[in-house]
Amino acid sequence: MNEMILLKLGEVVLKGLNRRSFEDKLTANVRRRLQHYGSFRVYSKQSTVYVEPQEQTCDIDGAYAACRQVFGVIAVTRALPCPKDKDAIYHCARNYLDRALREAKTFKVETKRADKKFPMNSMEISQYVGGLLHDAYPHLKVDVHKPELCVHVEVREKAAYVHGPSQPGAGGLPIGMGGTAVSLLSGGIDSPVSSYMIAKRGVQLELVHFFSPPYTSQQALDKVERLAGELTAWCGRMKLHIVPFTEIQEEIRRACPEDHFTLIMRRFMMRLAEGVAHRTGAKALVTGECLGQVASQTMDALTVSDAVCTLPVLRPVIGMDKEEIIRISRRIGTFETSILPYEDCCTVFTPRHPRTHPHLEEVVEYEKALDVEGLVQRALDGTERVTISIADIS
Ligand code: ATP
Ligand code: MG
Repeated sequence: MNEMILLKLGEVVLKGLNRRSFEDKLTANVRRRLQHYGSFRVYSKQSTVYVEPQEQTCDIDGAYAACRQVFGVIAVTRALPCPKDKDAIYHCARNYLDRALREAKTFKVETKRADKKFPMNSMEISQYVGGLLHDAYPHLKVDVHKPELCVHVEVREKAAYVHGPSQPGAGGLPIGMGGTAVSLLSGGIDSPVSSYMIAKRGVQLELVHFFSPPYTSQQALDKVERLAGELTAWCGRMKLHIVPFTEIQEEIRRACPEDHFTLIMRRFMMRLAEGVAHRTGAKALVTGECLGQVASQTMDALTVSDAVCTLPVLRPVIGMDKEEIIRISRRIGTFETSILPYEDCCTVFTPRHPRTHPHLEEVVEYEKALDVEGLVQRALDGTERVTISIADIS
């Protein structure tokens, strides 16, 4: 029997009718995620997803790392299956975990018996296998409280499985369980993190990026595509909607007071993101805004930009310090790309003294100088869509 991977599912959501759809969605996501690592059989049983390589050429290291990035999984472990027989289990543990058994000073065997027809109970299996391992590795001491090595035995329906410690999975809920949202992705640090956080709750994302050539460069756009590619490791395949923003920014500069540039620009971003949401069936918008971070992220400013939206605006990093956001950004692998020094359209025509406490009525008045509907329509009509697939990560 070949080494395989076991994925443990979150417990809380595995209740009632939800359970089947949760497991189906998760196994489909795992299958799609593993396409590049060879042929695997993926199926779920008893709160566990089994990932079994079907050929010798399967890249099990790659598959294991990928499984750790699939939302809906709380723990991941490599395991070796063996026949459901006490001596087969012992030999399997000895061969499979030989190195760890030699290196550890203390150990214990912990057994879970899902197959209640198996003639020994969990305690008896642990004692039997532990006793033989103790004889085979006389330097080992048993420590039931804090062993250096825990040998896990799981007696399940089809086979028994032996494994060492598991590693944490990505947590969250399987993508697709929570509907679709449009995430506004700039080239910065915050918006990849906010995208990740909402995807983690089971939401499929449509990404939107506003670009303003010639004020923003091709490199800035490449950077955003790269960030989107890095996010696919967690968020799966996504569409990136690239919205031309130059005309809007030039019009705002021509017709509106300088201290309101950013605010009015942000209202256009929200209108356009909502336009994309209507076209894609998305039910919410996501931004990387953080209270007080910049002038356009005060409570008054957020109120002014929210006023153009009918959909809820999710801001998962709203209460986080930059340091906390950076920590997540490093962990999920987007930080190094985010800090590449390319300009964003937000930094084009920035006012010297932006308004931090704007009044909605005033903003609405200023916008009367603009053909809001026409500008929005033309930008949506000029939007390009790029599919970012998982293989695009370089
Ligand atoms: P980030 O927030 O990603 O680090 P930033 O802080 O430079 O970038 P802000 O000016 O704070 O960006 O913008 C707030 C939010 O507005 C971003 O988190 C993002 O959701 C959205 N946003 C800003 N610029 C763009 C853009 N060019 N395209 C799409 N969304 C954008
Ligand atoms: Mg920001």
